[in-house]
Amino acid sequence: MAIVLEGLSQCPLCGQVLDRSNEFIMTPPLTSNTKDALFIFSDAGIHVTCLNGHPQKESLLYQMQQSDETRDAANAVCIVDGKLITYPDDYLTTGMLTSDLHEPLVEFNFIILNRNNNTNGTNGMSLFLY
Ligand SMILES: [Zn+2]
Repeated sequence: MAIVLEGLSQCPLCGQVLDRSNEFIMTPPLTSNTKDALFIFSDAGIHVTCLNGHPQKESLLYQMQQSDETRDAANAVCIVDGKLITYPDDYLTTGMLTSDLHEPLVEFNFIILNRNNNTNGTNGMSLFLY
């Protein structure tokens, strides 16, 4: 979740300072991809009034919901073996790779893996993301 310093942090949409005089929400770190349409909203404090008028609002709320669901321990089921991941250090997720629901990459958003699952019999998973 974003860290907002009231009176110092700025809304990425209007550039105004965030404080108690104007309601704002805080978003999770959704993406580090600067070319994604939701990058500007990632890990930020955003005025509710600014967000309400923005065309990406529904996309942001949808991706935040998806993110919340993968953070819920009850949903921490590995896509490889279908088993619940009970040890937090074993949990690995791809997060939001794209907010564009028309990109093929969207199928890999928020995939949950148990890092101990592997197919070659060695300890640990070999997962490479570039
Ligand atoms: Zn604003």
